[in-house]
Amino acid sequence: MTGKEVAILRIGHRPERDQRVTTHVALTGRALGASGMYLAASDKGVVESVDDVADRWGGKFFCEDNVKWRVCIRDWKAAGGKVVHLTMYGINLPDIISEIRPCEKLLVVVGAEKVPGEMYGLADYNVAVTGQPHSEISSLALFLDHLYEGTEFSHPFPDAKIRIVPSKAGKQTEEL
Ligand code: SAM
Repeated sequence: MTGKEVAILRIGHRPERDQRVTTHVALTGRALGASGMYLAASDKGVVESVDDVADRWGGKFFCEDNVKWRVCIRDWKAAGGKVVHLTMYGINLPDIISEIRPCEKLLVVVGAEKVPGEMYGLADYNVAVTGQPHSEISSLALFLDHLYEGTEFSHPFPDAKIRIVPSKAGKQTEEL
């Protein structure tokens, strides 16, 4: 869809409390140009919600649960990809994005609660979206916007069943 292959790896998900945030991580990634999300937990509810949106709103976006995160990272690297871990302890986004942008295959890791210390060593890039604590959704959105330099606003979503007709006032949609 974007020329690059960018997938998300969500770790630390707790089904009893993170369903909504994890679903929003996937939807944010999808809207802003990622090709899918690996979920390092079992949660069919998240998978179904994300699949339902992708089916109606078009484009190709996979959502896979029950992923073993270390294996996912190992396989990604073996396939020539780079791993970006979003963490407030990393190098600030504007200072590193030009080094990351040329990579054609990126796995973007976001945590939920405390991320295992091992993750910092496994990542090719530990990237901070400011050095202040906030959220996996906002950090992912800003990372993808910097990565794509605003071009994500015109990414296509083929085979959609519905689309929005942008309007200054009111809500206009079109069934396709
Ligand atoms: N306190 C946890 C820790 O130290 O590992 C992180 C909790 S935070 C709510 C959840 C996730 O949001 C983090 O794992 C990270 O991926 C992302 N995040 C939060 N603030 C961030 C920041 N300033 N820069 C980059 N990512 C951030």
